[in-house]
Amino acid sequence: MQTILLVEDDPLLADAIAAALRQDGWQVDHAADAAAARIAVVDHAYGAVLLDLGLPHGSGLGVLAAMRERYDATPVLIITARDQLGDRIRGLDAGADDYLVKPFPIDELLARLRAVLRRSQGRVAPLLRYKGIVVDPARRHVTRNGEPVRLGAHEYRTLLALIERQGQAIARDRLEDLVYGGSGAIESNTIAVYVHQLRRKLGDELIATVHGYGYRLGEES
Ligand code: CA
Repeated sequence: MQTILLVEDDPLLADAIAAALRQDGWQVDHAADAAAARIAVVDHAYGAVLLDLGLPHGSGLGVLAAMRERYDATPVLIITARDQLGDRIRGLDAGADDYLVKPFPIDELLARLRAVLRRSQGRVAPLLRYKGIVVDPARRHVTRNGEPVRLGAHEYRTLLALIERQGQAIARDRLEDLVYGGSGAIESNTIAVYVHQLRRKLGDELIATVHGYGYRLGEES
């Protein structure tokens, strides 16, 4: 069963939508602010995201932009208030699949959701490659020389951040932001732990330490 992430700060509306989704056979995760949504979308592979734009602790547009920046192709359906026309246009520009203006009949939401999911099937996100390593961001799948490699969520995001920026050194702070989705919930030295695990699973020569700065893909120079 696919899980839908519902990002909505109005508790009554969130309850009503979540109940209708469950009735329609979906599992539902709920995020009540932008910070929680940012964490949820990096921690889970959702079938789709229902995204309110006006949120505490950031905006829905910021959540969407961060997802698309990571090549996260999860379908996103924006649910927004009537007075936010500019935001709706920006939302579609930022990679939303559809939008719905509040208030809406719940049946229309369910129909639009199914349409967005149908359209997204077969959509192809680019594969990211480095030497024998291939990352498929749409499926969160990694292979080394054709063999699947099992990575933890943080290891995966560390690899994704590095492979998207091949040839560049990434500062440790920036890498932490990318891996933790800017949530600020960072324990010291954890990036070093993920890098160590990635080297163990994918080869010592995969990631170079840039001393006093951070990391980059490639061998030590
Ligand atoms: Ca709102």
